[in-house]
Amino acid sequence: PLNTLRDPSLLKSDALINGEWAPAPGRFAVNDPATGALLAEVANHGAESAHHAIVAANRAWPAWKGKTAKERAAIMMKWFQLLHANADDLARIMTAEQGKPLAEAKGEVTYGASFIEWFAEESKRVYGETVQTTDGNKRYLVIKQPVGVCAAITPWNFPIAMITRKVAPALAAGCTVVIKPAEATPLSALAVAELAQRAGMPAGVLNVLTADAEQSIEVGKVLCSSDVVRHLSFTGSTEVGRILAAQCAPTVKALSLELGGNAPFIVFDDADLDSAVEGAMASKYRNAGQTCVCANRFYAQDGIYDRFVEKLAEKAAAMKVGNGFEAGVVLGPLIDDAAIAKVQEHVADAVAKGARLVTGGELIEGRFYQPTVLADATAEMRCSREETFGPVAPVFRFQTEAEAIELANATEFGLASYFYSRDVGRIFRVGEALEYGMVGINTGLISTAEVPFGGVKQSGLGREGGRQGIEDYVETKYLCLGDI
Ligand code: ADP
Repeated sequence: PLNTLRDPSLLKSDALINGEWAPAPGRFAVNDPATGALLAEVANHGAESAHHAIVAANRAWPAWKGKTAKERAAIMMKWFQLLHANADDLARIMTAEQGKPLAEAKGEVTYGASFIEWFAEESKRVYGETVQTTDGNKRYLVIKQPVGVCAAITPWNFPIAMITRKVAPALAAGCTVVIKPAEATPLSALAVAELAQRAGMPAGVLNVLTADAEQSIEVGKVLCSSDVVRHLSFTGSTEVGRILAAQCAPTVKALSLELGGNAPFIVFDDADLDSAVEGAMASKYRNAGQTCVCANRFYAQDGIYDRFVEKLAEKAAAMKVGNGFEAGVVLGPLIDDAAIAKVQEHVADAVAKGARLVTGGELIEGRFYQPTVLADATAEMRCSREETFGPVAPVFRFQTEAEAIELANATEFGLASYFYSRDVGRIFRVGEALEYGMVGINTGLISTAEVPFGGVKQSGLGREGGRQGIEDYVETKYLCLGDI
C-alpha cells in the first residue's frame, strides 16, 4: 500500500534528533495490522539517544522561545499547510500501519492539522496581567513563559492527532519537544516530523525518538527522570500513566495525562431514537472502537430499550468490515492480537453471565472482528468495568434518571460520556451530574481543536485543545517592581 505514495520521501525510518535523521544499530518491524505485511524497519533508539534528544531540545530552546509568537506561528502555519497538501499520503501511511479506513485516516489528518492551526493562532493570545497594587511603592506584574523542554509519549490509535495535540501547544508557547511515538505507528509520526522540517522548524525544536516496546520503557525512564525536561504529556493506558507519574515524581515534573475511559452512553425514553442510534454508531465503531472516548457501556431506558437494541444491531450488522484501503470499508482491523484477545474475553464473559448476542460476536479472520451488539448486559460483566477498546456494544437496561446517573458514574474513570434526551431540564440535570471531563449531548462526536479535551478521576490530568490546551506549557511568573 505504500508504493503508491505521491511523495515517497515522506516515508522515513530513522529518528529525528537535532534536525538530522538518526539511524540506530537495532531496528524494529512495523507491520500492517490488516495483512501482517512488513511496512518498514524503524530505528530502535534507547536511553543514550534520549539523552541526545534532550540535549538538542535544550540547546534549541533559547532561540525558539526568543522568537516572537508571530514568528513561531508563521512556521507552524506553514507546517499546517503542508499537512493538508500531503493529506492523501499521510492518510495512506496511517491506514497502512494503523488499519483505520482511509476516509477516517484522512479525517484524522485534518483533525490533527487543526491543532497546529489553532495553537499557532493561540500563541499570539498568551496574556499576562497587571495586578492592583496594595503598596504605592510597588507594582505587580504577572507574565507567562514557556516551561522549557517538553516530552510527549503518544499512542497508536490516533498516530498524528495525539502528537499535534501535545506538540502544537508546546511549540506555540515557545517550548521545544522530544516525542516518543507508539511503536506500532512511528511512520505517521516521522512523516509529520519531515513536514515540520520542510516548514522550517529549526533543528532541535522538534525531535522524534522511535523505539520498540522494550526500548520505549528505557526512553521513558530518561524522559521522566531528566532535570532538563520540565513537562511530560502522555496519552495511553491508565496503568502506564501511573508508572510515568511515579517516575516523574522525583523531579517534580509537570504532567498532562490522557488515560483510559469507560464512557457511558445513555439513551432516555424521550430521545430521538434514530439520532441516538446514529450517535451510538459513530461513538462506538469509529476506529473499530479503539478510541479513548468510544462509548463502552450503553444504557437504554426501559421504554425504548428493545427498539434501541434492534436498530443498533441492524446498523452494526450492515457495516462493511475489511482492509481500510478497500472502498466502502467502515471497520478496519484491530491493532494487534492482544486487542483481539481482550474483545473475545469480554464477549465470552458477558455471554457466560447471561448477555444475549444480538449481532456479531465472532472473529472474522486475522485481526478483523465482527461489529457486535450484546443485550441484557449487567454490572457483573467485565465490559461494564473495563474498557473493551473494540467493536462491542453492551446494552444495559435502566428505569429512572437517577439510576442512569448512578450507573454511569460508578467507575474510577471520567473521560467522555454521552446522553440523548430532548428534555431541556433533563439535559441540564444530567449534564451537570455526570462525573466526566466531557459530555456529548445528542451527539456521539465531541472532539475538535477549539475545545478542552480531558478527563477527571483516573482518566487524567490537564486539558488538551481549546484555549486551555496551552496552559500546561506556560509557567506563571510574578514580577514585583519596587522603588516606584
Ligand atoms: P496502548 O494501550 O494505547 O497501547 P500504552 O499505554 O501501552 O497504550 O502505550 C502508549 C504509549 O506509551 C506508547 O508510545 C508506548 O510505547 C508507551 N509506553 C508503554 N509503556 C511505557 C513505559 N513503561 N514507559 C514509557 N513509555 C511507555
